[in-house]
Amino acid sequence: MKKETRVNHPPRVDLAPENHPVVAPIYQTVKFEFESLEQTLEYLHGERRGFFYTRASNPTTRQLEQTLAELQGREDCLATGSGVAAIAHLLLALTQQGDHIVCFVETYNPTRYLIRRLLGRFGVTQTMLSIEDLSGVERALASQRTRIVLFESPTNPVTKVADIAALTRVARAHGALTVLDNTFAGLHQHGEYDIDVFVHSLTKYASGAGDVMGGAVIASGDIIRSLRADFGVLGGVLDPHAAFLIQRGLKTYFVRYRTQCATSQRIAELLAGHAAVERVHYPGLASHPQHALARAQMQDFGTIVAFDLRGGAEAAARFVDALELFALTPSLGSTESLVVAPQMMSGGDLTAEQARLSAVTPGTVRLSIGLEDPDDLAEDVAKALAKA
Ligand SMILES: *Cc1c(COP(=O)(O)O)cnc(C)c1O
Repeated sequence: MKKETRVNHPPRVDLAPENHPVVAPIYQTVKFEFESLEQTLEYLHGERRGFFYTRASNPTTRQLEQTLAELQGREDCLATGSGVAAIAHLLLALTQQGDHIVCFVETYNPTRYLIRRLLGRFGVTQTMLSIEDLSGVERALASQRTRIVLFESPTNPVTKVADIAALTRVARAHGALTVLDNTFAGLHQHGEYDIDVFVHSLTKYASGAGDVMGGAVIASGDIIRSLRADFGVLGGVLDPHAAFLIQRGLKTYFVRYRTQCATSQRIAELLAGHAAVERVHYPGLASHPQHALARAQMQDFGTIVAFDLRGGAEAAARFVDALELFALTPSLGSTESLVVAPQMMSGGDLTAEQARLSAVTPGTVRLSIGLEDPDDLAEDVAKALAKA
């Protein structure tokens, strides 16, 4: 073999069958082969297990998918290149012209865009309500055959808590699928409810490091099987290297999530006792209007703490600029603490009434609490409040 050939066909290093790596390797390969055409055809006809093309499936990504499915308490999962890819692929795979979706003003902005603007172009209609308007949901479902009810809990940014048992009950009664974007609550919560499909942005708590993007759709084996063909050709798969990083991040998921929740509770209490603050939005606070519901539905209340400054937009601008430990940037679930100013929250597609329902005021600031020392964060927040 000439050296030009050898560099393209390097020696294979196979492990002995009794010899295993403790951390699964990254299968950074697009293609897999079998030993003969016969075996290849058996694979293609579904008669032989294996991998063939990474857009369809890859062992590294598959390990992550199986971990995520188990964490969320469902049978199977499809990983995608980002959270919005998971939502976009799911919505395209589940809907057809003439279908109707119930969604909410409190929903993540790009998801609203996907439903109203993108799916709207293909003849899918929607009704957008407030997540607190349960009777509105019942009316919408009773008056129109509905394919999907898509919601979040807690919502972004003011942490309203959806009544999941009530929503799933009415959706089931009217034959609509429920899709819960469970990104804020995390992978270990809400699995016991009658949710058909969970979606997650793995960009947030799953990796935790804020250095990789990913998304997931988690559901029963039957639902995932029904999505597989469409997801395969839509093509927004997760790269094996990103899957490896997210799988690595998951090892510290519970310690990170719970530590960050404990610090979030402390910061929420600090804010609630401060004269410059009109109102704090954190489900773990007894003063949260849905605290009892949150306690019944969740074990951990999340790491997003939002609050309304009495001084409005100007006070919020002074506050975010005075913070030293919080990066002024969106997202959540990373080890660094982050802050979003009200001026950065886009509700531009909402009517005045819908904007009122979303409960974002000119002084609403959103904190995402990281893994820094709680005393340091508390001191930073207190100093910035003094300057607000
Ligand atoms: C961030 C986020 C998404 C989108 O995830 P990306 O990974 O950024 O594409 C979807 N839903 C919620 C609730 C999010 O917070």
